[in-house]
Amino acid sequence: MENTGCHTPGDFERGQQDKMIEANLARVGRKILVMSGKGGVGKSTVASYLALLLSMNGKKVGLLDVDLHGPTVGRLMNVQGGFDTAEEGVVRPYRFSDNLSIVSLDMLLGENKDTAVIWRGPMKISAIRQFISDIEWGDLDYLVVDSPPGTGDEPLTVAQTIPDAEAIIVTTPQEISLADVRKSINFCHQVKLKILGVVENMSGHTCPHCGKDVPIFGSGGGEKMAAQMGVPHLGRIPIDAEMVDSGDRGDLKGLTDKADLEINAAYKKILEQIS
Ligand code: ADP
Repeated sequence: MENTGCHTPGDFERGQQDKMIEANLARVGRKILVMSGKGGVGKSTVASYLALLLSMNGKKVGLLDVDLHGPTVGRLMNVQGGFDTAEEGVVRPYRFSDNLSIVSLDMLLGENKDTAVIWRGPMKISAIRQFISDIEWGDLDYLVVDSPPGTGDEPLTVAQTIPDAEAIIVTTPQEISLADVRKSINFCHQVKLKILGVVENMSGHTCPHCGKDVPIFGSGGGEKMAAQMGVPHLGRIPIDAEMVDSGDRGDLKGLTDKADLEINAAYKKILEQIS
């Protein structure tokens, strides 16, 4: 059949959505995608804590959790409630503070946070695009996006939807984690995503009793790997039981008051490099 060049309704809607995405992203300064090769390395914690610290430094920050199967930002940040729909026809993110807005799939799950989200690729792609197109984020200095581990639909959708996003890749120091991070770095090269650098989380631990350094997962592996792969190394964050406790209680903010914590000095260094 001859191609008349007509557009299907799907094409039209997608075109409209592209325009909305473009308009919303034009109001955002920096877009940072936080990735990891493996789960459990502290990626959501790094994304949330960096977003929190940036907002406390006076920046307007949006935190978007696209880890659709395992959204944790809502728990780490104790998000109580859903979207702000006070104004008719407008959906705004959850307002954590004057400077920090959050969107996580947790917010759509209602009371039952243990619901398993069983979605195939197209639904995930559609949800991520809607989180950007249909939500009124307002003017932001930073949009921090927490992506699930690996190189699947979610980071790919972010890379394609936000072409000027910059990636932070979180790893732990041991080889089993670093092997997957190399894949994340190669993914960024392939989809032409700028890499801000690698963060080595859970790097060393100072024993609270004797003060000795205990390299539980080792230390320095992320830095070495970053040098080998020719990407910046942003810093090492040690293991700290207070981080686990604050995360479990949804009170990462409480940690920011503890000026003498080693993790806060480490985050400060990272922040200086990405601000
Ligand atoms: P991911 O997003 O990579 O799956 P999470 O951010 O959910 O990882 O963190 C996994 C666990 O590790 C959480 O219990 C979190 O509190 C803990 N954690 C993260 N960073 C640190 C750290 N520097 N020291 C100790 N525990 C940490």
